[in-house]
Amino acid sequence: MEMGGLFVKTHFVKKPMQFSVRDVEVEAPESDEIVVAPRACGVCGFDVLTAKFLAEDWMGIGHEVTGEVAEVGTAVRNVAVGDRVVVENSTFCGLCVQCKRGNVVHCSSMNHYLSPGAFAERLKVKARAVYPLGDLDFCAGALAEPLTVAIDMVEAADIPLSGSVVVFGPGPIGLMICRLALLKGAARVYLTGHAHSEARWQAADTIGVTEKLYVDAPGFSLQEYFREHEPQGVDRVLVTSPPATVAEAVDICRFGGIIAYDGISFDASQQIVLDGNALHFKRLQLRGVHSVPNLGWPQALDLLGRRVIDPEVFISQTFPFAEVPEAVRFAADNRKDTVKVMVDFAL
Ligand SMILES: [Zn+2]
Ligand SMILES: [Zn+2]
Repeated sequence: MEMGGLFVKTHFVKKPMQFSVRDVEVEAPESDEIVVAPRACGVCGFDVLTAKFLAEDWMGIGHEVTGEVAEVGTAVRNVAVGDRVVVENSTFCGLCVQCKRGNVVHCSSMNHYLSPGAFAERLKVKARAVYPLGDLDFCAGALAEPLTVAIDMVEAADIPLSGSVVVFGPGPIGLMICRLALLKGAARVYLTGHAHSEARWQAADTIGVTEKLYVDAPGFSLQEYFREHEPQGVDRVLVTSPPATVAEAVDICRFGGIIAYDGISFDASQQIVLDGNALHFKRLQLRGVHSVPNLGWPQALDLLGRRVIDPEVFISQTFPFAEVPEAVRFAADNRKDTVKVMVDFAL
């Protein structure tokens, strides 16, 4: 093997919505590392936030990725060149105190990508960071990453059989949560969001949510709606919307209910006001969910493979690798038409 790295095209972003393609040197893998050639990568809401607000300097994006193993380090045994894999964006270390206690989800020394982001011709990672894709096509497999987040949310919320569930936010993760909540045996699954997200509401119909609630419809009040339709309060609220909405979840949740929260913002709105007495007297549990490291790849790939989570319902547009900037802009500007924007490297 020759010395020195390979120069590969890599997409970078910088706020506000600036894009640049650069040739980045990816060094040959160390003994426990591999180099993956990405084949598909979804555009995440977080990628859009990064391009819009977060990237103070040029940085790589993309973390919902499948690909083909292109190079392996000398000690790698779990995969070989040519294998089709899904790539974790964070991997627990297996060595720290929390990992050794069996709390791998609370690992204090996680491994991340070793090259800048998956919107690149090559991505270097630890060999432990990949899982076999099986028969799934690359684009369908790239939905596994957001699906692991949805799985984590549903597990954290402990959905009761025959229960009532409200999901805030009709994004891909919110929609996947609705499907999983029905699968877990929820009797009623309500989905809330803004009326303009037409493609997402269409997906919600296909998935079979019980009721779609447009929070911006004239005269609509979430509190009043649930006072009428779920007078005891709802069993579970799963929040994938901005932080302030947690206050509404506290309001509509029943005595002893559980709220799972996976929302984020990067301005003053991350500070929220909650009714502390309601938390106390209603015995509510508010559970923060940050699915890093992502676990649940086997379940995610199984659900996608059996079309329990149907990739066709979720992938709304595909763009070629050369058009990553267009893909991110499209996801940012066309909320009406998008569910999940996918970059297909084969186009
Ligand atoms: Zn993501
Ligand atoms: Zn660890």
